[in-house]
Order: sequence, then structure tokens, then C-alpha cells
Amino acid sequence: MASKLHLETALTPDGWRHDVVATIDHGSIVSIVPAGATNTQRISGVVVPGLPNLHSHAFQRAMAGLTERRGSETDSFWSWREAMYRFVERLCPDDLEAIAAFAYMEMLEAGFTSVAEFHYLHHQPDGRPYDNIAEMSQRIVAAADFVGIGLTLLPVLYRQGGFLGEPPSAAQRRFINDRDSYARLMETKVPGGTIGIAPHSLRAVTTDDLKWAATTWRGKPAHIHVSEQTREVDDCLAAHGKRPVDLLMDTVEIDTCWFLIHATHADDGEIARMARSKATVGLCPITEANLGDGLFDLPSLLARGGRFGVGSDSNVRISAADELRTLEYGQRLFHRRRNVLGDPARSTGRRLFDGALGPSAIAPGRRADFVVLHDEGLQGDSVLDHWLFAADNTAIKSVYCAGIQKVQNGRHVDRETMAVRYRQTIDRLMVSI
Ligand SMILES: [Zn+2]
Repeated sequence: MASKLHLETALTPDGWRHDVVATIDHGSIVSIVPAGATNTQRISGVVVPGLPNLHSHAFQRAMAGLTERRGSETDSFWSWREAMYRFVERLCPDDLEAIAAFAYMEMLEAGFTSVAEFHYLHHQPDGRPYDNIAEMSQRIVAAADFVGIGLTLLPVLYRQGGFLGEPPSAAQRRFINDRDSYARLMETKVPGGTIGIAPHSLRAVTTDDLKWAATTWRGKPAHIHVSEQTREVDDCLAAHGKRPVDLLMDTVEIDTCWFLIHATHADDGEIARMARSKATVGLCPITEANLGDGLFDLPSLLARGGRFGVGSDSNVRISAADELRTLEYGQRLFHRRRNVLGDPARSTGRRLFDGALGPSAIAPGRRADFVVLHDEGLQGDSVLDHWLFAADNTAIKSVYCAGIQKVQNGRHVDRETMAVRYRQTIDRLMVSI
């Protein structure tokens, strides 16, 4: 049955509009028209579209704050990965579901209304599949469904331990699939959401596997980690004689379905190719800063008309505004200038928001995902500038997913249930890594 919401102020593809009525049917916006005299449920505050979270490993939320102690002079992504692997060994399906639900709830409270879950924790700790091979995938689906967040489930294809076909380490056994078992994972049902492929990285799949997955599921969303580390670039050059993005582009047809995650160390030529392909570069500024990965040359991508979005990746901190602020501040610190990612047509906050929003919008045909910001008396794009640069998650008053209110007064309507379950999980894991 269709419902109607009166939006006092809303950001639509036609710009800022006042007093419009959105008609919503089966979770999607059917129409937006000027409000008449009829009494419809009013949303006060400033309504903006919810942002997509392009890259998440939900279970890593439970590690947040546990790896911030220096182990050696060379703590890096790779030493963090060892800690993550030790953590992974303990997780069972119930743990994954509880942690994912908690992380997805925090995403909604923080302005993300959909998430692309890059899911690689498939099997039992010794590498044997669960009786139902899609057990862990279904736990992700259940968590997203309970929370109400839009889900793109990305079962990860992980075949080997390195570029030269090294066998997986003991900790990686939970991630490994052959083509048959992967095809079964790709049959997982995602009610109301989408499924896509995720070859883990160029080091974890062969170029043949990459071609096979890209061809078999052509047209589905396709995500891959690429060029996150300088060591990965060096290893790729040594194994294939090409840099990672070049190798990827030379192996499969990259188009708008593709999301290239990180791309931190892409060089100028690779950035130009990514821009031409119209693929989206999925940047994860907080995680990349936390792991000391490096800084992607986003101004160069934007100058070439390329596309970007953001993801919360390790979920060490979950906040759409913080991701975008970190993105801009990284560039300011590097270039010693202000408003590096802005353009003359609009404010920097608006530019960042539009970029991260991609094709989502408050528009007919789109899912009715609304983030309602407190009215601070600001007008137009200043609302976004304030949220992204001057506020935190408390700027968010409420959130609607598929037209249903899921966050009220800044808190998810089922927060207590999920928080208790999450706390029990953490206590049981007795995390000390
Ligand atoms: Zn990742």
C-alpha cells in the first residue's frame, strides 16, 4: 500500500525543495509533488538522501580499538592483517550475525542507508564448509534485514595466498572456494537487495578466475580490492610485469558495474584509465588513514571526470560525514590548500556529498532512503557543509529505509536488542589480540 510523507525541506535532483510530498510504494519513491492542503505525515528537519556505503567488512567492527598499540617500528597494514586473522579464527555464525547487525545499525545511525558487504568469511575455522555452504552469507542477509539497511551482498572469491599461486595460510582457509563452491554461494537469496561478485584482489585470484567470474556474472555489481599497498604494486609488477589497475583493465572489461576499492597507489595512467571506464573508485578514507595505506590522488580522478564513493571498510569508526571530511582533509594536508575537492559550481560539502551519493537520490524510482538532519537554521548547501565539517553523527535526527522509520532521535528503534546481543558476543569472544 502506498504511503505519503510530507518533507518540509529536501534535497532532490532538482535541488533544494520545500514542502513536497513523496509518495512511496513497496519501499520506492513513486512521485514527488508540491504539498497540497491534505494532512500527511510531516518530516520536519532537512531531508537528504541516505549515502551508500561501498565497502564493508562488518565483522571487523568488533576489532575497533584493539589494534592501536605499536608492536614494532614497522606496524602496517600487514601487521594489522595478522591481528585480524587471529581474530577471524574465533568467529562463529552467531557472532558474525550479532556483529554485523550492530555495525549495520551504526551505519544507519550515521547516514549510510545501504551497504556493500565484501564478505569473505565463508567456512569453518579449519576450512571445511558449513553444512549449508551459504551459512555465513545468510547471516549477513539476516543482519541487514533485521536492521533495515539496503544490502549488496558480495561473496568474495579467494583462491590463493599470493600472486604466484602460493597456497593459502591456515588463517585464510575460511576464505577459500573453488569455482563450483563459489557458484553455489552466488545463489544466495538477498530479499530486497542485490548480489554481486567480489574477486578479493589480484593476489588472491588468478587472471583466469577473474575472467571467469566477470564473464559468468556480467552485469552484476563487481567489486575488487586493488592497489591498496605499495607491496601489492611491487608484487604485481614482479609477477605480471604490470601495475595492478593496468593488469585488471587488460584482463576484464571494466565498466559502470565495477567498483575498484582503494586504488591508493594507482599512477597517472591508471587513474586516467579508471576515469574513462566510468567505474567507481571506492575510497575508504578513515580505514586508509588508520592502516597508514597512503593517499589516493582524487583531484586527478575528478579532473578527468572519474567517479568515486566511500566505504567504511574496517569499520573502526562508522560515520558517513567523517569519511567525507577525512577525504577532504587528507587532500588539504597534502596540498596545503583548502577546498581541494570542491568545484566552483557548489560548496565543497555539496560536491563531496554528490560524489558519494552516485546515482542514489530522492527521486521517483529510487528506494525511499532518507536521512533527516536537525534544522540548525542553515540554508541550502550550508546544511551539508555543516554536517560534514562541523558536526558528528548527532546531526542526524532520524533515518527512513524503504520509507520506514528506522532511526528515531538518533537511535535505531531496535538498538537495545542489538546492543545486548553484540555485548554478549564480545564478552564471549574475550577479545585480547
Ligand atoms: Zn576491504
